[in-house]
Amino acid sequence: MTTMPQPDVADRFAHARSLVRDVPDFPKAGIVFKDITPLLASPRAFHSLLDGLAEPFIGEGIDAVVGIEARGFIFGAALAARLNASFVPARKPGKLPAAVDRVEYETEYSTAALEMHTGSLREGARTLIVDDVLATGGTAVAAASLVERQGAVVHALAFALELTFLGGRGRVGALPVVSLLRY
Ligand code: AMP
Repeated sequence: MTTMPQPDVADRFAHARSLVRDVPDFPKAGIVFKDITPLLASPRAFHSLLDGLAEPFIGEGIDAVVGIEARGFIFGAALAARLNASFVPARKPGKLPAAVDRVEYETEYSTAALEMHTGSLREGARTLIVDDVLATGGTAVAAASLVERQGAVVHALAFALELTFLGGRGRVGALPVVSLLRY
């Protein structure tokens, strides 16, 4: 009989957490960057996070998943497929070819903007916003305002990681937030 890895019922995400690498001073001095590439390289770790992120939304009638460039695409597209929902990219400026809606915002380490093709979401669409990391929440708030500008409804926001000490959850206001690995 072959030995199968057993699910870790004490902390089902412990394996995934062990594969998040801290990279100090990236992209600039003082930032500890949470590098998820070792986690993505592990099929088991990635699968467990996708399961954890999808579970709260199964049967919730999610119409669209908005993934935030770039690492939000990795989780967002896989989640959209699991939830039978559309995938809509929220991209950095100048990447989308057709007419866009645009929002500018501050991040932990820069000023930025997000764009979404105009008319990507239908009126009233129940939308899940997905990114890899919730830090200060600026990016998430910008994505939420893009969704609302298109007449859609933000059902919730989902993140693989949350840097709780940066207070992003407070910044997104009353919107429900799901995160799996909290720091
Ligand atoms: P924020 O708008 O501050 O919540 O920042 C969230 C965005 O910045 C996400 O798209 C993350 O990918 C990225 N980000 C911010 N801080 C970090 C960090 N310490 N490690 C990895 N990614 C981060």
